[in-house]
Amino acid sequence: MFEQRLGELGAQHLTRRLTPLHSSVGPVVEMAGRQILLLASNDYLGLANHPEVVQSAIEATQHFGAGAGASRLISGSLPPHQELESALAQFKGTEAALTFSSGYLANIGIIPALVEQGGLILADRLCHASLIDGCRLSAADFRVYRHNDIDHLRSLLAKNRRTRRTLIVTDGLFSMDGDLSPLPELCQLANDYKADLYIDDAHGTGVMGPHGRGTAEHFGLDTQIPLQMGTLGKAFGSSGAYLAGPSTLIRYLMNTSRSFIFTTAPPPSSAAAATAALRIIQREPERRARLWANRERLFSGLTRLGFSLSPSVSPIMPILIGNPEIALSFAEHLFAEGLFAPAIRPPTVPDGTSRIRVTVTSEHTPSHIDQALASFQRAGQSMRLI
Ligand SMILES: *Cc1c(COP(=O)(O)O)cnc(C)c1O
Repeated sequence: MFEQRLGELGAQHLTRRLTPLHSSVGPVVEMAGRQILLLASNDYLGLANHPEVVQSAIEATQHFGAGAGASRLISGSLPPHQELESALAQFKGTEAALTFSSGYLANIGIIPALVEQGGLILADRLCHASLIDGCRLSAADFRVYRHNDIDHLRSLLAKNRRTRRTLIVTDGLFSMDGDLSPLPELCQLANDYKADLYIDDAHGTGVMGPHGRGTAEHFGLDTQIPLQMGTLGKAFGSSGAYLAGPSTLIRYLMNTSRSFIFTTAPPPSSAAAATAALRIIQREPERRARLWANRERLFSGLTRLGFSLSPSVSPIMPILIGNPEIALSFAEHLFAEGLFAPAIRPPTVPDGTSRIRVTVTSEHTPSHIDQALASFQRAGQSMRLI
């Protein structure tokens, strides 16, 4: 039965396999015995290998052990967890913050706790899978609206009884398209219809906004969105996730969010690494400046070469291909050129929208980017994509 299902996926060019790295995360990595320029990492600010971040993880391990030994509510709340949560609350300008072991766990734990039976959840169709799973786990009714389509969302809200609890769910910066959600309009709608707005800013945290506080800061809405979730495994170079918000909400989630309650606390090392990363994010805005300069250089170069890019405004730059077989083959051509930029296929993206997802970081040099553009040109021409 499993063989047969794998065979079916294979026939559609939808099987996946691991691509092991034999080095740290880049930007030049060792893969399959070769030196490869990585254009796939979410370590946007190069913090996963920053000496201060690594040293903090080592020291936390030495002081507090490799594992927390219990869930947060039993005996697994150690000083690195407390320090991280207060630093995150300060960074986001909220009363409190609650951390989770991953973004996936945060979304599947928080959303069902926020809206119960009798409520309604309206989510963007291109929301991350963990948000969709969180919506499905809730006992509330769940509908999707067309991607970033405010009119569609408004019509769904208008049909709804205003008395029932309603939650609007969106990514801040969409992980597979690199575009932003229209937060000002979403805030306005949420206000008009007395709904709550939950934003998952996994890719925006540390990247968007003058201080890296995320997509809400980018739109000048820092203080107007009480439900902001972010992750620590991308620009923070560590692992885990958080929700920052009013202290009553945080205490409520601590008591009701099953993926917070029923799991071992994150290792002290990852909490300490995230706190160190946050210090650097606040201290070194030049990392964000390098990231954006690299993004401009690569985006304008790919556009000039004639690739069909999604309307990205971020370091995530998908080259749209459509067919999964052609996307895979293009990724192989790129790999032969010494570049790793993965083919993203259904079910991660909708049918017919397979793509090469390219990301840059602050650690790429201008010459890395020029080298990448030359490779994209050769691979694109040999496949007649440009
Ligand atoms: C990566 C991602 C997650 C999952 O976060 P992890 O910490 O990797 O589990 C959730 N939401 C979005 C939008 C993401 O891009």
